[in-house]
Amino acid sequence: MAIEKEVKRRRTFAIISHPDAGKTTMTEKLLLYGGAIHQAGSVKARKASTHATSDWMEIEKQRGISVTSSVMQFEYNNYCINILDTPGHQDFSEDTYRTLCAADAAVMLIDGAKGVEPQTIKLFKVCRLRHIPIFTFINKMDRASKPPLELIDEIEKVLGIKSYVMNWPIGIHGDFQGVYNRLSRQVELYRKGQDHGAKKAQITVADLNDEQLVATIGENYCSELRQDIELLDEVGEEFEQSRIDQGLLTPLYFGSAITNFGVETFLQSFLELAPSPQPKMSSAGMIEPNSPEFSAFVFKIQANMNPGHRDRIAFMRICSGQFTPNMEVKLQRNGKILRIVQPQQFMAQEHKSVTEAYAGDIIGVFDPGNYRIADTLTEKNRNFTFGDIPVFPAEHFARISPKDSMKRKAFVSGMEQLAQEGAIQIYKEYGIGTETYICGVVGILQLDVLEVRLQNEYNVAINRQLLNYHIAGWVDRSQEAVDLDELNLTSTTMKVLDQDEQPVLLFESNWAQNWALEKNPGLKLLSIREKH
Ligand code: GDP
Repeated sequence: MAIEKEVKRRRTFAIISHPDAGKTTMTEKLLLYGGAIHQAGSVKARKASTHATSDWMEIEKQRGISVTSSVMQFEYNNYCINILDTPGHQDFSEDTYRTLCAADAAVMLIDGAKGVEPQTIKLFKVCRLRHIPIFTFINKMDRASKPPLELIDEIEKVLGIKSYVMNWPIGIHGDFQGVYNRLSRQVELYRKGQDHGAKKAQITVADLNDEQLVATIGENYCSELRQDIELLDEVGEEFEQSRIDQGLLTPLYFGSAITNFGVETFLQSFLELAPSPQPKMSSAGMIEPNSPEFSAFVFKIQANMNPGHRDRIAFMRICSGQFTPNMEVKLQRNGKILRIVQPQQFMAQEHKSVTEAYAGDIIGVFDPGNYRIADTLTEKNRNFTFGDIPVFPAEHFARISPKDSMKRKAFVSGMEQLAQEGAIQIYKEYGIGTETYICGVVGILQLDVLEVRLQNEYNVAINRQLLNYHIAGWVDRSQEAVDLDELNLTSTTMKVLDQDEQPVLLFESNWAQNWALEKNPGLKLLSIREKH
């Protein structure tokens, strides 16, 4: 019973957005409402100040960005909320994608003036793959924005998802007046002159037909609003929870994170409509989150937070049962029984030891090298796995070799270890026995991290030569046999084998990829590889 109650009140989600859309600001405001922090600016400050002692975190310090990502838990209205942080700027990496595999829902944050941007598209695709519900918050409405209907159209055309408008903005040319809430059929007025939202915003509510509303915002805004709402009611999408649950319909909200406007109403609505942790498919059938038996999977491994120790932290998402400190679990990959000592949960401002955790929660476990990405953990007497986490497309490629050929053994072991950890993808050139690796990364910064870690942890200095490839396509061998030796490709396209000896084609451009597809009927390329 206790487990059921705990699971039901949990919401675990990630915010997906393009850099600068306002994710940090939004996260901060959500934490502010939850009382997890008391002052805006804390999350940014935390990003800038932590990990300052670690060597490879120097990269982070120098560039003023965060390489690591974590999880923030807080309570609000008796909900227990886990926000998974998805690293965004140059620190965009495969981890960003993998984090989405641990979320039950996503909040898509869009800059109202810019619309759908490239990184949002990439992250959206991963959410789509998982069929999780997506909630859209159009941010920065205090400034001039694109017309709302244009934004909705763009979301549908570019991302292929329909929107259900939850609220409608009044004044989009930098003259923001507030929003009309379609469910409560009331207007929430935007009060200018708020102190940049360091405290909670006061919202004044009036009815759409309220004379006071006309008096406050003027007849022009009111009549435009009445027309817009009439149009929405007539031609807009119907509200359907089941389509929201499947990620086919996105509830869409307008607001302004920096001034707090619309953030709390959004949070309340999101908590009501977003799912609690759901059953998860395993090799032994569905695992119910309320089941008393513990299970979890590892979705991220973070190395060397403290350079004094070689320890890594494995992040695991609990799928069922209750976690208690020092409990023994079975690592399904090798049958090892491990005791989970001193797990950490990451609060807004500090790490705290976990005393209990349930489905939907994320715990970080110190890892001397036991865990790998996608590992399943269960009770000692159970045998099942949750299956693999997909391999996401790398976008930057480099040829990596050790500076000192005498260090080859350490180099190979370092590269393989880091690849296993999921920090990089490694490939071998097809048909060529070579002394080098082709390394693929999602974010370019990963190459810097690779260089520093090989030096620090394996004492190997490397040469790296950036290659002009940007697209990787796994050759789909599930349907037709493709003879790799016979493929008709442009002279620059490279054939490589990934860690599991699966063939991959590396292209310089879309043009080269299209050439390959046109000249080789029967060739199918996958941009994301589901491991089996
Ligand atoms: P992130 O890169 O997505 O984490 O974005 P940040 O939260 O750091 O915000 C990027 C910039 O946009 C900062 O200068 C913010 O102050 C600003 N910003 C965030 N939300 C709003 C908003 O609602 N209105 C306006 N005008 N600016 C905003």
